[in-house]
Amino acid sequence: MTVRDALEKKGLKSLDRIVAAKVDGIPRDLTWDPAERAEIEPIYVDSGEGLEILRHSTSHVMAMAVRELFPGVKVTIGPAIEDGFYYDFDFERPFREEDLSVIEEKMKEIVRANLPFERKELPAQEAIEFFQEQGENYKVELIRDLGAENVSLYTQGSFTDLCRGPHLPSTGQIKAFHLIKVAGAYWRGDEKRAMLSRIYGVAFSDRKALKAHLKRLEEAQKRNHAKLGPQLELFSTHDEIGAGMVVWHPKGMMLRHLLEQFEIKEHLARDYEMVRGPEILKTDLWKKSGHFEHYRENMYFTLIDDQSYGIKPMNCLSHMLIYGSKIRSYRDLPKRYFELGTVHRHERSGVLHGLLRVREFTQDDAHILCAPDQLNGEIKGVLEFVRDIMGVFGFEYELEVSTRPEKSIGSDEDWELATGALIEAMEETGLSYDINEGDGAFYGPKIDVKLKDALGRRWQCATIQCDFTLPERFDLVYVGKDGQKHRPAMIHRVILGAIERFIGILIEHYAGAFPVWLAPVQATILTVTDRNNPFAETVLENLKLAGIRVKADLRNEKLGLKVREAQLEKIPYMLIIGDNESEKGGVTPRLRNGDNLEFMTADAFIGTIDKDCRQRR
Ligand SMILES: [Zn+2]
Ligand SMILES: [Zn+2]
Repeated sequence: MTVRDALEKKGLKSLDRIVAAKVDGIPRDLTWDPAERAEIEPIYVDSGEGLEILRHSTSHVMAMAVRELFPGVKVTIGPAIEDGFYYDFDFERPFREEDLSVIEEKMKEIVRANLPFERKELPAQEAIEFFQEQGENYKVELIRDLGAENVSLYTQGSFTDLCRGPHLPSTGQIKAFHLIKVAGAYWRGDEKRAMLSRIYGVAFSDRKALKAHLKRLEEAQKRNHAKLGPQLELFSTHDEIGAGMVVWHPKGMMLRHLLEQFEIKEHLARDYEMVRGPEILKTDLWKKSGHFEHYRENMYFTLIDDQSYGIKPMNCLSHMLIYGSKIRSYRDLPKRYFELGTVHRHERSGVLHGLLRVREFTQDDAHILCAPDQLNGEIKGVLEFVRDIMGVFGFEYELEVSTRPEKSIGSDEDWELATGALIEAMEETGLSYDINEGDGAFYGPKIDVKLKDALGRRWQCATIQCDFTLPERFDLVYVGKDGQKHRPAMIHRVILGAIERFIGILIEHYAGAFPVWLAPVQATILTVTDRNNPFAETVLENLKLAGIRVKADLRNEKLGLKVREAQLEKIPYMLIIGDNESEKGGVTPRLRNGDNLEFMTADAFIGTIDKDCRQRR
């Protein structure tokens, strides 16, 4: 009896939407032969697990298509990912965008042929011989690394892949997919190994879901910050300067400044104190903190007077020295040190992308040192801070707790205490969260905040990390009520994270049309004819004096052209000044979306902008 038979016996409806089943909790093919009393739960194609199986099966179909079309190609791995799948190939030349439609056509043929996915288990040695005969040396390496006695292979038509499964019953169940792009990727992410050619695709349970997704992709492409940023003259990057280094142009720097001012204000209101440390610190200090041992590959080093220094990848160390600079009493706690700290990290060149992954960036970083019994309240305070700030930008978010990684320092007891403190604070705040096993920082567990932007995409920004190790390593103490010395607990936290990355996200979230309070230019004055220029200049002066970020376009050009240019710049307000405005002594503001406000005096307009800014609109 197969899983399918068992499900049929149960009399389940819409059997054709079932792609696999959980047998005693383990996902299996419908052809699996379950133990007699096994518990069998269906997996539907449109469930999370069902979609993963569908997407992974589609990657096998793509690999088959590529092998048929491009003789000599070698296959490597092809997992399901969010919304789709990819497969990495080793071929004499990288795949190109033009290849995609050809591959897609071939895939459709394979789908139409409705080939069954057939599972076979065999001794690893036999599988190695099988793949060796086909010249698939990557598969051989994978099997050797697995070190298992037996492995499973899946075959559909002419193609056999090493795979744990499960898979769809047959290729005919693939209803809606599309290949979207090609990229380079190193075998096993290792720069020293072969450069492979990766093809990405998306797959959904039906055509409607696929269409909606492709529409979102198109919208995301329009909002791409790497394109919009230079177009709006916010920032640029240059080969001459180096990869992952950002140059801020006047408008981008204004945006950044506004964001930083906002952050400083919000931190001061919550009793944080501003501090700053140098960007290079002696390597000995990085050894003391544990960074040298655990984070060295991500750091840059330099020599000064024959002494080794490390360029900071994190801002913690100076904050530790500030705390340790005098005797602290329990009455002084908590101490909350805030720094807009610029750090440098070595990211592999392959992962650098626009503002989202860079090598030099500034964090809105803070370290909170407190008595252990204050930890819970401090974590809750940070969670509320995150809620308030995300609310300003209209971001929803999800929380994830990351626990102890393999490479870590500190005692079991401290890890338990810290992990418990984070979870307790979230539960008491009534927030739900996921657990990400083994993904914590080397010195402590953390809460990651994943925000959702206007297109529903998730981005990792804020993190809250507990740390008992650094206070220990720096021998930080406070004098308790009992007159004895005690060890403070510490929280590392960022709210926006890297300012660069956050701005990248904001550009895409707002599609470059920043709210008035953040817009580098809030208003532009557009004259209808040269006659209106003297009055326009008076208005310009008044608005500037009132602190409005305003400019004027007094060129002798058609109004339509001036309006179009201002719209491309996505300036929130256009103040069109014609004879009527000049005579009556006021302005008629026009919004980005084309709506007009009533005629008003310049003072009333200043009031409108002030109100926007106060309400952070
Ligand atoms: Zn597979
Ligand atoms: Zn830190």
